Amino acid sequence: MPRSTPPPAQTSLPSPPDGRGEWDVVVVGAGPAGTSAARAAAARGATVLLVDRAVFPRYKTCGGGLLGESLELLPERARAAIESEVAESVFTHRFRRPFRLRQPAPYLAMVRRADFDQALADAAQDAGARFADGVAVREVAETDDGALVQLRTSAGAVSAHVVIGADGTGGRVGRYVGVTPGGVDLGLEDEVAMPADATPWRDHVLLDWGGASGSYAWVFPKRDSLTVGVIQRRGAPDETRAYLTAWREHLGLAGPDAVTLHSSGHLTQWRTPSSPLRRGGVVVAGDAAGLLEPWTREGISFALRSGTWAGEAAASAAVAHTSTSASTRADAPATDAARRARDTALDAYEARVTAVLAPEQAAGATILKAFERRPGLIHALLRTPAGARYFVRFCRGETTLARIGRHRHVMRLLRALA
Ligand SMILES: Cc1cc2nc3c(=O)[nH]c(=O)nc-3n(C[C@H](O)[C@H](O)[C@H](O)COP(=O)(O)OP(=O)(O)OC[C@H]3O[C@@H](n4cnc5c(N)ncnc54)[C@H](O)[C@@H]3O)c2cc1C
Repeated sequence: MPRSTPPPAQTSLPSPPDGRGEWDVVVVGAGPAGTSAARAAAARGATVLLVDRAVFPRYKTCGGGLLGESLELLPERARAAIESEVAESVFTHRFRRPFRLRQPAPYLAMVRRADFDQALADAAQDAGARFADGVAVREVAETDDGALVQLRTSAGAVSAHVVIGADGTGGRVGRYVGVTPGGVDLGLEDEVAMPADATPWRDHVLLDWGGASGSYAWVFPKRDSLTVGVIQRRGAPDETRAYLTAWREHLGLAGPDAVTLHSSGHLTQWRTPSSPLRRGGVVVAGDAAGLLEPWTREGISFALRSGTWAGEAAASAAVAHTSTSASTRADAPATDAARRARDTALDAYEARVTAVLAPEQAAGATILKAFERRPGLIHALLRTPAGARYFVRFCRGETTLARIGRHRHVMRLLRALA
């Protein structure tokens, strides 16, 4: 629930339970990745501290469009944050050649990220995690024996067996791990008050494939507002801004009657296939790891999945670490065995990302290349019955890009276009 008066930033951190000096798991960042990680680890009995530098609820630049893949992973509280569901998309290419894709039942859900992320943080706390908002992590280090991760934060120092970095694109923890981006985009968004005559805006999304390579624009309807945004490769901010201005003019959302509630920009990144997901006891999830689908830049399902898996692996790692330390002979090097047990548990996270998310990213990267070269053709393909069927099934979570990527003919066509 939104708080009526936001509290000030934290000046002290909660202490680990049972008088221990360290937490099993500390999660940095309370977006979909971090909150899912905290919830999963706490539900498995780990002691968990979740921190975010922002005071919650906080605004996040994001369309807030949820695929079926995401809906399946949501706790009940976060489901309640869904503001609208749409059964129709209207596609254009450079504001021309419009076509509608309408279905009898909705295939996309919309949330406002402030409420959605707050609900996810609440769910993590329900599972037993402690949440400290208004706490920024400033430095990451590991002890000389590698047994503990130490964080310096704006509210003091804190240690854990495992740290999960879910601090978003370009975050401090991602830098510590050495995440290498394969591509970085700039997204710009205006939150526009719902026009007085809301009827033409409700119940459908608008998508435009832009003139600049790989760019597109959207309107996602919420209960009382429209999220109007554009995304494009980083490096031409004036062009990206001009695209947003032109998009709003085209939509009739640029005049004095169109009230802009919030304007913001944010970078998104996706990783190279070999980008690391772990360094010692530190793993990264969601945007911090560059886990994002390169074509649509859909990242919430990637954040929910990678966060959950990271939390599960971290809880196993903490248990393995504790039980190995307790059972090691008094004269043996306890930390070596405990560290190996922890690393083995964390390897399971990397294996899941490699098996499930990496193929989706690879297929998305191929589609992006085709889209960058021939946006008009992708527009035309979506208009075909097969293209429309794939799009809707993808939105509903009935298929993934990885599965589409296994269709030899489809991929051959896309590679030829790229
Ligand atoms: C313009 C735009 C539109 C988008 N639209 C969609 C969409 O419609 N659907 C979709 O699925 N995806 C969309 N995405 C992508 C989506 O927003 C991200 O993939 C998603 O938010 C990733 O979640 P996350 O939890 O990994 O990171 P984030 O949601 O970015 O959360 C990171 C958190 O870490 C905190 N943090 C950062 N640094 C620190 C620090 N040093 N210490 C403590 N806390 C820190 C931040 O305050 C933040 O709360 C969009 C992205 C952009 C830019």
